[in-house]
Amino acid sequence: MINTEIPVCLCQIPANLQKDQMYEAIASYVRNIPKEQQIEDSAYEKRLAVCSACEALINGLTCKYCGCFVLARARKKNQGCPMPGGDLWSGVKSYL
Ligand code: SF4
Repeated sequence: MINTEIPVCLCQIPANLQKDQMYEAIASYVRNIPKEQQIEDSAYEKRLAVCSACEALINGLTCKYCGCFVLARARKKNQGCPMPGGDLWSGVKSYL
């Protein structure tokens, strides 16, 4: 049997908030990622552009393959896109 459940994100941002509270919780989480672990703005925006066109993005926020809020995952320099068969962010270069 195929498991169709979305994985649970490990960032511990509550998933049951009102939308504006959700965005603030994600923004707060991102602000607290240590600077040395963050990808630069231009690469972050390119990653998010890839996500925004991806069939795996649920409700504009969550990746169905990892359960992560992409606004948070994409900011982490050492994270990749979990698309089975190939990282869709692999063409986005970071210069940090
Ligand atoms: S599979 Fe990759 S590109 Fe698609 S939503 Fe998830 S992280 Fe973004």
